Amino acid sequence: MKLSTVIDHLHSIAPNAYQESYDNSGLLVGSYEAEVKGILVSLDVTEEILDEARANDCNVIVSHHPIIFSGLKRLVGADYIQRIVSKAIKNDINLFAIHTNLDNVYASGVNTHIAKRLGLTEVEILQPKEGYEASQQIGAGVIGTIDPTSEQDFLQTVKERMGAGCIKHTALLGQKVAKVAICGGSGRFLLPQAIAQGADVFISSDFKYHEYFDADGQIVIMDIGHYESEQFTTELLGGLLSEKFSNFAVLLTKKNTNPVSYF
Ligand SMILES: [Zn+2]
Repeated sequence: MKLSTVIDHLHSIAPNAYQESYDNSGLLVGSYEAEVKGILVSLDVTEEILDEARANDCNVIVSHHPIIFSGLKRLVGADYIQRIVSKAIKNDINLFAIHTNLDNVYASGVNTHIAKRLGLTEVEILQPKEGYEASQQIGAGVIGTIDPTSEQDFLQTVKERMGAGCIKHTALLGQKVAKVAICGGSGRFLLPQAIAQGADVFISSDFKYHEYFDADGQIVIMDIGHYESEQFTTELLGGLLSEKFSNFAVLLTKKNTNPVSYF
């Protein structure tokens, strides 16, 4: 089967056109005409992930984060991106990324998947994508409800279900959590929308020091870490691929690519 068939399937779920303007999703290295032998699914592409693909005879890596993001002027091994791209080319490994377009779809999207994991119901898109305001199917983040629970208990639930080693959070407000907004990855831009829609908690990552002040006593920010928030995207993508294709192996990486360690 040609790689284009696999890509067409993924784009039928999350069209490339839904990605944000700064993004670089799509086929980054390789050929649409390549014959697929096996697919390795990962959050990031690292040299370790390339080695894992080779060891398992996978000639396609489907990742959430695009390894080529803000341009590439030369391929001389000067940094990790150049080394990875060169190594992929040398080893005939195709690199395909499905990033903010997978974030921005409701059905089978990254945030809906997190919401399911946390047991949210009545889940909706938090901020419809510009130009698609009639649609509740395309946009950033999600918001949903849970049975009212204490903030401490909810912190514990999030920690366990999201596999987070620790959660950075703003001051607890001493109220029940019933409405939860979520954005996997860097979701700071959605905080005003989460507050406006009455969320008790906003789960996301990559908040800077001063940005925590923006909670302003109106919401509890729970920063669970970028990798932690998106790590189950591999499970989501693996499911989307294996339920459609049975003529080649779809493997989920066994490597943890989180560049952040906690002491
Ligand atoms: Zn991310």
